[in-house]
Parts: sequence; C-alpha cells; structure tokens
Amino acid sequence: MSSNLFEEQVYEIDEIWDPEWFSQGDHERFATLGKLVPEDSETLLDVGCGNGLFLSSLANAREWKRICGCDRSKAALSHVTVENHRADIVNLPFYENEFEVVSCQEVIEHLPSVSFESALDELARVAEKAIVISVPYAEDIRSNQTECPSCFTRFHPDFHMQSFDEDAMNRLFASRGFRPVLVEKLAPFDVSRHFQFMKRFHTKTFQKFTICPVCGFNQNDELKDELTVRAENAQSERKELRPPLSERFKRLVIPSYKCYRWIAAVYRAQS
Ligand SMILES: [Zn+2]
Repeated sequence: MSSNLFEEQVYEIDEIWDPEWFSQGDHERFATLGKLVPEDSETLLDVGCGNGLFLSSLANAREWKRICGCDRSKAALSHVTVENHRADIVNLPFYENEFEVVSCQEVIEHLPSVSFESALDELARVAEKAIVISVPYAEDIRSNQTECPSCFTRFHPDFHMQSFDEDAMNRLFASRGFRPVLVEKLAPFDVSRHFQFMKRFHTKTFQKFTICPVCGFNQNDELKDELTVRAENAQSERKELRPPLSERFKRLVIPSYKCYRWIAAVYRAQS
C-alpha cells in the first residue's frame, strides 16, 4: 500500500467528501482541467477521484464511451455517480492502455518516495493516449508542517510529501513513454515574501481532521476507533512515566541527579 493506516482513516471520514467541503477554487480547477482533457478522447479514468466531482463535471460536459473513477477511500466512492472501483494508485485493477485518458489530481503529492515511482508507472501503464495531472505548485512543505502534540512528530497535516515545479512536471513521465505537451500554472494569488519567510517559524495548527501518522493522535471522535484508542492508551502509559512534579522541581534546582541510560529485563514463557 502507498500509505499508512492512520492516514487512510482520515479519508474514510464521510464529512470530508461532502461536496460543500470543496471550495470555489476546487470547482474552478475542475473546470480548467476538464478543458485540458483531449477533446477526441472517449474513455477516461480519474485516479484518486475522491467524491467524483471532477468526473461529474466531465460527464455533464460531453458524451463518453466510458468514464470511470477509482479511489482508495470507500467513503469517497459512495458519492461517485459513474463507474468506480476501490483501488490503490500503485496497483490499478485495469489493463494496459485500458483508458485513452488517465487523470490524476491532487494525489501524487501525497505519495511517499517508495510508492511515487510505481504510481507514475501505473498511470502510464493504463493510459493509452494522454495523462492529465495536477498537484500543488512549488509548495514549501517544510513551512506547512504541523507538530503532533503527543509524540512531537512534525508532518504535513494533509500528508503532502512531494513538491513540484515546472521542471519536475516536465520530467514526470519522461522515462515512461509520455512527453509533456503543456505545463501550466493555475490560480495565481499574491503572497508576501515576508509572510512566506515567517511561515518557516510557525507550526501549523493541529486541526480537526489531522491525525499523526506516527502515533495516531487526533482530536476527532470519528477517528477514535480501535487503532487510535490503542495508540492513545500506549501514549497515556508513557505519560505516567513522567516523574512527579516534586521530582521535576528538584531537578530544576539541584545541579545533578541520578539517572540511568538503560534498562534490561528477562522474561520466561509460562509453561
Ligand atoms: Zn504523534
């Protein structure tokens, strides 16, 4: 799989697939990308289709012989109104060249290095003619990180792991038999250099739908299933290991105190 269990849980929250959740900007992106889909194509697969808003806008715009979406999230697919399949991008359940066009929006920036190359291989494998990709532009991933309040792991709250500029987009499918015919930046906005710089020193808030990929910490009732409860219990057991307040105060005022670097244990099987 291309992901971690905690991350996958977020995408199973039904609320995030509510069409209302998607901004005007998202809809504009769907419209722009729709125009980039070659007009002479009759079959299309949208990989990581989410709730299928893009597919619906394409299906409404013109006739298709086949229009299909796939996504890893069951919750997302329950909203899709055209043919859809539950699948991971690194293992697409389709034949070689099964679709004339394969589109993939806001997906590959989420992929860790281990699955990134195989995901691109898969997109190229099932696409006969064209591939349409969109990703955030030149995102400064470091300055958009949050920190887990429980285990202090720093990570991108939307699990973005890759960043792309024009060069990166140009090279994407170079070794996979596809060449770029258009690379275009979308949705310009103004950002102050000062703001961009200061972001470096600011940690993003740990939000309602954030889940720590390492320990599973979250503040969302829907995410509190067996997996996260287990993670939390383990965490609270660790918290109890903190020395009592009086001891911590002593350590502040007394210059040295005894500590140990290691601990060992021997266990035997019960017969
Ligand atoms: Zn954590």
